Amino acid sequence: MAASHPTIPIHADKPGHSAFEFLSTRKDELVGWARKFSLFPYPFVTACCAMEFMAVSSTPYDTDRFGAALPRFSPRQSDLLMVVGTVTHKQAPILLKVYEQMCEPKWVMAFGACATSGGFYQNYAALPGIDRIIPVDIYVPGCPPRPETVIDAIMKLQERIANDHHPILTKDF
Ligand code: SF4
Repeated sequence: MAASHPTIPIHADKPGHSAFEFLSTRKDELVGWARKFSLFPYPFVTACCAMEFMAVSSTPYDTDRFGAALPRFSPRQSDLLMVVGTVTHKQAPILLKVYEQMCEPKWVMAFGACATSGGFYQNYAALPGIDRIIPVDIYVPGCPPRPETVIDAIMKLQERIANDHHPILTKDF
């Protein structure tokens, strides 16, 4: 007959127990860590910044390292809206509709000078920055931005996601 080993019951699921308290203080960190490596970008690409977006997505820059390699082509499956290029007033309602179709939590990146401020298209047709219609979490400077700048922005966004409070975490979870 196999020797039975004594087991130490750890009721980590019971509020008030020290193991439960320990897990409770770390759960935000754990979810933040998992979420920051699970970005699913939706590229809303309108103009020449697309060339650098393609460069960022290519093998030498390996965005797989950041868990952000797989673009989704449905906003419902994405949590990172990357607005790449010039947005005109005519396109603005479409961008807003795409944003509204994404589930929470979601983040927005303004990729390049045009998405950030309209760039040098200061005219009646171009939107002077996408933050006029949707909230922006991170701005990437450049016309177009270098891939390294985009990677830096992804890392900054990851930092923020890791430190955010995640609404799925409640007092009892
Ligand atoms: S920022 Fe420069 S490269 Fe990017 S869409 Fe505008 S003009 Fe084109």
